[in-house]
Amino acid sequence: MTDESLTVDDEIVARARIHARDVAIDVDWECLEWAVSARAKRRAGACRWDGEVATIVLSRRAYEAYDWAQFAAVVRHELVHAWEFQRHGKSGHGERFRREARRLEAPRHCEAFTDPRYLLRCLGGECTWESRRHQASKPVRTPENYRCGSCGGDYEVEHVSSGRSWKTAAGYGGAKAALGEEW
Ligand SMILES: [Zn+2]
Ligand SMILES: [Zn+2]
Repeated sequence: MTDESLTVDDEIVARARIHARDVAIDVDWECLEWAVSARAKRRAGACRWDGEVATIVLSRRAYEAYDWAQFAAVVRHELVHAWEFQRHGKSGHGERFRREARRLEAPRHCEAFTDPRYLLRCLGGECTWESRRHQASKPVRTPENYRCGSCGGDYEVEHVSSGRSWKTAAGYGGAKAALGEEW
């Protein structure tokens, strides 16, 4: 393991803990542990139960691919599992889970984790700003109308699976037409 991956994992757990503190759920925090999986490829999060301690496992790949609002919703989903395990000794996605998840604005299902479709990348030489998108939202379709979230400069959009990129609405249309079925 590299130092860098340790730092990212520490950051994930730290941010998840801070978020969890603000979630109005009656979890026994003394019996809750956090972990990060570098290997989980299909699930953004999971919750394990050993009969005493609940362990929430978060996917590093999901953290890197999701924006924070999406990832925080995964944290709340797993907190509901932890709460069910602690209160009832088991957990699923049934009616009790659904009620609690709805109350906390968490997704009902463990989200299947996918790579983002689009990557926004600043064109400023010094700037390292990037942003990930799953939908072809306006900043994806008309990048010339938006600005880098860090330096305010222009950015380009990459269609991740094909590697094609564009900087304008015309470029977006061209890439989409060129890719056809592969889009
Ligand atoms: Zn779940
Ligand atoms: Zn920038």
